[in-house]
Order: sequence, then structure tokens, then C-alpha cells
Amino acid sequence: MDKRITIEEIAQNLAMGKAVKQPNGYLTRCPCHNDTKLSLRLKLTAQGDLRATCEAGCKNRDIRQKLSDKGLIAKGDDERVEIKTPCKKTYDSTLVGSYAVTSSELAGMEFVTSKYFVPPFLYAQSISMIYSPPGVGKSMVVHGFCSALTREKPEGLTIGPWEIINGCGVLLVDGELPMSDLKKRLSMISKGLGGEHCQNRLLILSSVEVQEKTGEPINLTKVRYREEITNHFLRHPEYRVLVLDNLTSLTDGMNENTKTAWAPINRWLLQLRNIGVAIILVHHANKSGTDRGHSSIRDNVNNIISLKRVKGAAVDDVHLKAVFEKGRDLEPGEGNDVKLKLIKDEHGGLRFVCPQV
Ligand SMILES: [Zn+2]
Repeated sequence: MDKRITIEEIAQNLAMGKAVKQPNGYLTRCPCHNDTKLSLRLKLTAQGDLRATCEAGCKNRDIRQKLSDKGLIAKGDDERVEIKTPCKKTYDSTLVGSYAVTSSELAGMEFVTSKYFVPPFLYAQSISMIYSPPGVGKSMVVHGFCSALTREKPEGLTIGPWEIINGCGVLLVDGELPMSDLKKRLSMISKGLGGEHCQNRLLILSSVEVQEKTGEPINLTKVRYREEITNHFLRHPEYRVLVLDNLTSLTDGMNENTKTAWAPINRWLLQLRNIGVAIILVHHANKSGTDRGHSSIRDNVNNIISLKRVKGAAVDDVHLKAVFEKGRDLEPGEGNDVKLKLIKDEHGGLRFVCPQV
């Protein structure tokens, strides 16, 4: 089958020509259950990724598997749909003539640039900030993502309410934990996800370790550390997620409250985003409960998730409410508050579940 296919062709194939066009996609037959009506909503996100939502609640992983079995989306790592886009006419060799598009050309374009790792917020070319007061458990959540994304079979694993739909290599840059603590936590989380695993897709760069070996901690205000990280992503395209845990410990000496101090780091994050990296910034809340530092930190971020301890939860319990404060590409309903709770299983593994289920 031709690798390039339109969303309409996928929808019509599933419903044998009876798919219904909607303002932003198609209603079609779900391939995962005995669908007597049109229960599956197919649409393309602004990032050009195919989103499939079954009203009967079929899992995204299973729907993608069926679409891939039918040859409607590519198999394996690259599960996005490649969409036919109309060619842009070139008028002349000037900048405007070569690159400007008319509004009707723009309307006809479909963008295929990024791919979801964890809907609705972690996708290629995005920056997400996760923040909370210290000690609430945000690093545990982030370690959950690091561990799940890098497993051999990540698809379908969940971190509380969030399902991994594509795995990839992750670079975790940690600003404050000793290696022994990182080892203990990641091993318990890995166990909770279905047994310890040994593979090389999770790279852990500990500032404490770097300081021990070189005499200097990792400091993102210094251009050479930023360049080293960029080079890693340029050389190793299988690494698609960068986790910076956390902003304060990795930018020692930066005056968080001025825009000029943040500007070079902001430019660097945008550069990483442009080469396809999904970035998770872990940040502390200040005393008033909002994220710390100059408001410009929020400007270029696609998603902001605030984690709060659920009222009445014990101090030693990781029981959180996640609130989307910003979400550039959220669908209606996707920005609702969700809860997640860390539980210990009989083998000593840790696992985030949805407490309401
Ligand atoms: Zn279904």
C-alpha cells in the first residue's frame, strides 16, 4: 500500500465508504469492537498526528494495532499517518515568493511533524512544565514516564490516567539526586511496570555525579552544557524526550525573576523543540503555590501541569491531583483534572494508578 494516505481514506476504508465527514475529522467504524454505529472519531491534530477516540472506550493502542494490521498506518516505531499535502507553487526566488503561502494554500496543508508519546501532552516538538511544591512527588511521576517510555514494549503502559502510545529514548538530566537514590527509585518503578528491565534507552545524567567527577555541577546557564545536550539529540535521533529535573537545581546562579536571565535557556529549548524533541521541565512551586520565576518561563511552554497533594492525603503518600493550567493542543475534555496515586505492589514495585477507578 502507498505509504501516504489521507485521513479520509482511512475513515472510508474502516466504514466501507460510509464514514461521515465532521468539522474537524471523520466518524467511522471502530475496528476494535462490534461497532454497529459509527463510534470512532478520527482527526488530525495541529501536529499532524492521527487521533482516534472510540466512544465505546477501546484502547488507543488496540485501535492503532488494528489500523497498522490493515496497512492503514505505518507499522513499528513510526505510527503516524503520512498525509498527502498539496505542493506549494514558487512564484520567484525572493524570500516572500519562495516561502510565503496564500491563505488557501495554508488551509490545504496538513502538517506531519510530530508524534505522540503520551496523549494529551507529551508529543514531539513540545515543551511541558510539570510543577508542584517540593516533596509532593513530581519527580516520581516524571521517573514513571522515563521508565515506561524506555521499556522494550512501552505501548499500553499507564502512569495513572496517562497511557503511553509510543516509546522512545529518554535523556533524564537530574540536578540534585545522588546516583544511589536514582537507582533505588527507578528500580522500584521499573518493577511496578512489570519487572526490572535492562536496556539502554534511558540515559541518566546526574549533576551530582558530574560534579564528583569533574568538580563542577551541570549548569544550563552555561552554553557548553546546553550544547552538549543538543549534540546528543542531533547524534541520536532515537532519543526523543528530554527531562530536566529540576529547573532550579540545573540553573544555579540564574536570577529566576528576570526575563534576560531566562532568554538564552528559552532559545535553547525552542531550538531543541524545533529538532523534534519533547521536553519535560520539572519546576518548583513558590510559596503562593504558583510556579517560580519570571512569567516568561511560561510563554513558550505548550503545556503546564500543576501537581497538588490531594486533600487529606497522608504526608508520606504520593496521592496527587494534576491540573492542566495550559494546554495548547488539548481537545475538549482532555484538560480535566485527573488524580494519580502511587501504590506498592507485593514485589516491592511502585506503580501510579487512578484512585477513582
Ligand atoms: Zn471501539
